Amino acid sequence: MIEMQDVYKKYPNGVQAVDGINIRIKAGEFVYVVGPSGAGKSTFIKMMYREEKPTSGSIVIDGVNLSKLKESKVPLLRRNIGVVFQDFKLLPQLTVYENVAFALEVIEESPKNIKKRVMEVLDLVKLKHKARHLPNELSGGEQQRISIARSIVNKPKVMIADEPTGNLDPDTSWEIMNIFEEINEKGTTIVMATHNREIVNTIKKRVIAIENGKIARDQAEGDYGYEA
Ligand code: ADP
Ligand code: ADP
Repeated sequence: MIEMQDVYKKYPNGVQAVDGINIRIKAGEFVYVVGPSGAGKSTFIKMMYREEKPTSGSIVIDGVNLSKLKESKVPLLRRNIGVVFQDFKLLPQLTVYENVAFALEVIEESPKNIKKRVMEVLDLVKLKHKARHLPNELSGGEQQRISIARSIVNKPKVMIADEPTGNLDPDTSWEIMNIFEEINEKGTTIVMATHNREIVNTIKKRVIAIENGKIARDQAEGDYGYEA
């Protein structure tokens, strides 16, 4: 589902953020990306949804070669990849319903299908009753659940999450993880950068550790592996 070959990324300021990465992630896998701050985790996952372009190397997502992808096709790619951020990135002036519906309105789904699908994903994250609320009327955990709902409304094959529990308390973080597990069990491939040792060591998944832009470790059912 995700394949990187000899991927390098040097930012214009000269920082070599990713320094020769080769990786294969199969459909349906759940992968944690761990490592120290500044190791290159965000850069690594941003390249998967074309937020950043590699300086060299090839990245193929679900058969699409991102290096050859025209700028005009990037929105199409994004539709097939759900992205969840640490800081939610909901649109503050839109209701919960509208935030989630947005991605479907862009592709001109029928209003009937939009409503059905939005309610389906709000139900999955247990927030149907908050559909009319604005994001700032919700707790952090609720906002993250809405951002997860938004990310899967298009039924993407791949979900990318960059420290999705980074701003949440432990109980809320576990609730969020339950939702990710449920989504993964339905077949979606998940790649999640995280600093949450407890979660990585409890909900065992493949662990890819990045240090200095390189893969330092790649283990099935791995540990977090860093001291506090
Ligand atoms: P991590 O997610 O592991 O903290 P990042 O991928 O954010 O690591 O950063 C890796 C390195 O690249 C760091 O040295 C960081 O300062 C640098 N970096 C990240 N984004 C940019 C950018 N847009 N421009 C220049 N340097 C950047
Ligand atoms: P159900 O079919 O589960 O009863 P409802 O149709 O009652 O769902 O809608 C649940 C919530 O979603 C309500 O708060 C409703 O106002 C909101 N909602 C439904 N459709 C829209 C829409 N098109 N735009 C904005 N909010 C909507």
